[in-house]
Amino acid sequence: MCDCAALIKAIDAYIAKADDDLKDALNGAGFADPDGAVKEISSLEEKVTEVLTAETTYITSKISQAKDLPNLYYGDLWDEIKNGDTTAEELAAVFGDEFMAYIPELAGEYIRQADPELSVNTITERTNSWINVWSITLGLIMAFNFHRNVENSIIDGIINGLSISMFAQNMKDKPIRDDYHNARLVSMTEILRAHSVANQEAIMQNPAVEYKEWVHAGVFQTKPRENHVAMNGVTARKDEPFQLLGADGSLYNPMYPRDSNLPPEESINCHCMHKGAVNENVFGLPLEERKRMQEEAIAADNEKFTQENVTNGENTLTNPDNNGIIEVETGSENNMNENMSGGISGALDPESKEAEIHAEQYYESVRNMKNDYINIAKNTGFSENDIKEIKNYLFVDKHELTDGYKRFTPYFEIAQSWQRLESGINIREQDIILLNHELTELRLVKSGISQDDAHIEASKIFNYRKAIEKEE
Ligand SMILES: [Zn+2]
Repeated sequence: MCDCAALIKAIDAYIAKADDDLKDALNGAGFADPDGAVKEISSLEEKVTEVLTAETTYITSKISQAKDLPNLYYGDLWDEIKNGDTTAEELAAVFGDEFMAYIPELAGEYIRQADPELSVNTITERTNSWINVWSITLGLIMAFNFHRNVENSIIDGIINGLSISMFAQNMKDKPIRDDYHNARLVSMTEILRAHSVANQEAIMQNPAVEYKEWVHAGVFQTKPRENHVAMNGVTARKDEPFQLLGADGSLYNPMYPRDSNLPPEESINCHCMHKGAVNENVFGLPLEERKRMQEEAIAADNEKFTQENVTNGENTLTNPDNNGIIEVETGSENNMNENMSGGISGALDPESKEAEIHAEQYYESVRNMKNDYINIAKNTGFSENDIKEIKNYLFVDKHELTDGYKRFTPYFEIAQSWQRLESGINIREQDIILLNHELTELRLVKSGISQDDAHIEASKIFNYRKAIEKEE
C-alpha cells in the first residue's frame, strides 16, 4: 500500500526544507546568488539522475541475459558490459556543459561583489583546462566506482551460489547504488565546487585583491569538520594554495575549499568559502586603470599556467620516481626514502643501485612472461583482460610522459608487487591498490587526460605510495 500522493508531498517538503536550509548556509558563508545555486543543483541533479538510472537499467538488463554468474564474470560478458557502458562520457558531457555555462557567469557575480564596476568577459586558461580535465575525470571516477561495486556484488553472488534471476532481483530490491541520492550528493558538491572555482577566477582577475581568506560558516551542519573550522580566517596569497591538515593527517594544498585536488572526504558536504581582501588603494584607481590591470592579471596567469606545465616536465625529468606511481610533489621524496628504507630488513634498499638494477631486469622479464596475467587474474579476482591492460600499460607500452614518449622507469616496489601478485604468495593490500590505481589511471589516459593528471586523479582513490608507507 502506498499513499503515493502524500509520500511525494512529504518528499517535496523535505527537499524544499533542505533547500531552504542550504540557501541559508550558503548565504551565511558568502556564496553569490544562493537562490541560483540551489536551482542549479536541482537542474544538474535531474540530468545526472537520468544518466545514472539509464546506467543501472543498462547493466541490470545486460546481466539478466547471462547464463549464470560465473559465466558472466569469468567469461567475456562482464567486460563487454563495461566496455559498452557510455556513462563516463555522458556524465563528462553533463558536467562539462554545466561548468562551461555556469562558471563564467558566476565569476562575473563574484567580481561584482568586490567591485561593482568590473565584469568577467573571458576566463583564464587555468580554469578552462580545469573544466575539461575535471569533467572527464569525474565521469570516469563515478562510472568506475559503480563498476567496481557491481563487480564485488557479483563475486559475493558467486560465493553464495546465487542464480542470475536471484541476483537481478537483489539488484532491484537492494540497489547497489542509490541513483537519486548519489545524483543529489554529486550535484550539490559540484555546484558548490563551481562556486569556489568561479570565485577564485574572480579573485585572480581582480587587481585590487592580493590575499584570500578561508571562511567556514558552520551553522548549517550539526557536525562541522574540526579541521575546516580551524581554517576559518586563515589567509594566503591569492595565487598560492592554503595548507589544510586533512582529517586523515595528510597535508593538502587546496587553492580554495572543495579544490578538486582534495579527496572526496574533504569536499563532500563542505560549505566553506573563500573571499578576497580588497586593497583600497587599487580599488580607488580610475575604472579604466582597473580594467587594464584586470587584462594584465589574466595574461600573467595564462603565462604562469603555461610555465607551470613546462616546469612540471622538468621536475619529472630529474625525478627518478616518475613512473606513474609515485607522486612527484616536492618535499615528499625525503620522507618517502626514510619510510621505504627504514622498514625493510634483510631485503634490498629500494633506493639502492642494486634495487634499480633488479627492477630493470625484472621489468624486462615481465615483458617476456606469457602467463603472468592469467595467474594474477586467478590470484586476485580481476579479469584477465584488465590485468593484460595493466601489464601493457605498466611494463610494455610507451607513454606521452612529461619528459618524452617512453616507457615508465622501472620501480623496485612495483617489481615486488608484481612478483607477489604473480606467485600468489604474500599478496599485500598495496599490491591490489596498485592494480586498481593503474586501471583507473590508464582509463583516464585513454579518455585523453595527460598521464600526469591521470596519475594525480587515480591517487585520490587508490594511493599506492600511502599504502606502502602504511605497510612499512
Ligand atoms: Zn569545509
